[in-house]
Amino acid sequence: MTEAQPAPAPRPLPPVLLLGVPGAGKGTQAKRLSLRYHIPHLSTGDIFREMAHAESDLAKRVWNDMRQGNLVSDDLVCQVVAERLQRDDCRSGYILDGFPRTLPQARWLMQFLESGPRAAARVIVIYLTVGYNDLYRRLLGRRSCPACGRIYNDFTQPPRHAGVCDLDQSPLVQRKDDDPAVIRERLSAYEQQTLPLVEFFRGRGSLLELSGGEAVDRVTGRLFAAIEQAAPESPAAGAL
Ligand SMILES: [Zn+2]
Repeated sequence: MTEAQPAPAPRPLPPVLLLGVPGAGKGTQAKRLSLRYHIPHLSTGDIFREMAHAESDLAKRVWNDMRQGNLVSDDLVCQVVAERLQRDDCRSGYILDGFPRTLPQARWLMQFLESGPRAAARVIVIYLTVGYNDLYRRLLGRRSCPACGRIYNDFTQPPRHAGVCDLDQSPLVQRKDDDPAVIRERLSAYEQQTLPLVEFFRGRGSLLELSGGEAVDRVTGRLFAAIEQAAPESPAAGAL
């Protein structure tokens, strides 16, 4: 495979949090981290989808909120995440993707970790940045084929003939939420929401900023290096 070095032996890692705008490559990097360190990748989307099959009181309260068209409150989101983090597969670490999303959630998380049974006062926060223009271009260039579903990108993965699918020659279309005005709006909304989180974690000295604008493998290499540095292997680690 692509991995040059063998994966390190499993060892407890501090929780890893991934921040970054849509399109920065969080999902891809989270999967690679999960494979290398044998820790679960927890996206809030997945946690909530999983809850759809649960019969608990908590699940019912969440669905009530959603059915009424309300945003699920911070308090409820935190309870759902707490429930998930207490399961056994999170013992040696985990990757949170999409949580925390607000400052109250971030404050709650730090308190939860500091007071938990496995006190983990430290977190590794990775902020994947992408230049606004790069990202804008990347999102703006996305096209898909309505017939076969294949995805193209005018800048990074163009079709052989502009505007038509290589496989079936159907005219390519742009997703509705990929139009320039919507992209601009989405990015600025995300930035407004994320920057306070970035500052919060930077203030605690636990933020690693990585450029997600480079080739995917390079970003992965830096990510692994950053984690090794933040959580160096020590003989004592296994005993804790
Ligand atoms: Zn096609």
